[in-house]
Amino acid sequence: MTSQPEIVSFEDSIKAMEPLRQAVSALGIELVDAQLDKFYTYYKEMVDWNQRVNLTGITEFQDVLTKHYLDSLSVSLALSDELKSNGSFIDVGTGAGFPGIPLCLAFPGMGGTLLDATGKKTIFLEYIVEILGLDRLSVVKDRAETLAMAPEHREVYDIVLGRGLAGMAAFAELTLPFAKVGGLVIAQKLTNSSEEIAAASNAIELLGGELKEIIQVAQKGLENRALVVVKKIMPTPMRYPRRPGSPSKNPL
Ligand code: SAH
Repeated sequence: MTSQPEIVSFEDSIKAMEPLRQAVSALGIELVDAQLDKFYTYYKEMVDWNQRVNLTGITEFQDVLTKHYLDSLSVSLALSDELKSNGSFIDVGTGAGFPGIPLCLAFPGMGGTLLDATGKKTIFLEYIVEILGLDRLSVVKDRAETLAMAPEHREVYDIVLGRGLAGMAAFAELTLPFAKVGGLVIAQKLTNSSEEIAAASNAIELLGGELKEIIQVAQKGLENRALVVVKKIMPTPMRYPRRPGSPSKNPL
């Protein structure tokens, strides 16, 4: 059993979520009560659905706050004020919605696509996007290798996100095709990933990207996390991504 605070009212949910409000203030994010209440609803629904559908291994309340919510919101360290106010993104392999849903809850002007290949996850995502009123988000069930060939998704996004998706070279192939030229790809990695990142430099270049910076997250509880920020500087050649499975099986 997971320990879940017994919440009976809006006031109680705000009280339970107070540690999140404090933690995100260190990221320069202010959350009002209505936003905290939505974060609570998201937690409750995810843990409930998780009994029937395998959405996440992280279900303890404190862990959800730190490892899912705060970690997702740490992506904002790589975003300009303009992107935070109206940037479009695709979250590739979003799973139960991380990092895309917390970002949209914190920055309601942002919007875009939550992508996952697993139908059970996208059914949950459709439900939660609806009940949280996230009308700027749409949910797509597909593989990145296929969706990246669709003209309405290829090279159109300001930001491409992905957490826990693949090693850096495969990650680059699954994400860079979605970014517009001038856009950003943000990989959430561990701080000790420098070899993996160096080994992906050829792939990043082939796909039209350039390593821009590595940001150490350094928030409490996330000391080993880093953001690898890649800028798209050239269009991605149409031969990428290769067919489903190839990016991970045989990384560039
Ligand atoms: N981003 C989430 C989930 C990580 S698990 C989090 O950090 O919590 C990786 C997810 O990516 C899984 O849900 C899996 O279904 C999805 N996935 C893996 N390869 C994919 C691909 N090629 N296209 C789309 N989704 C993919």
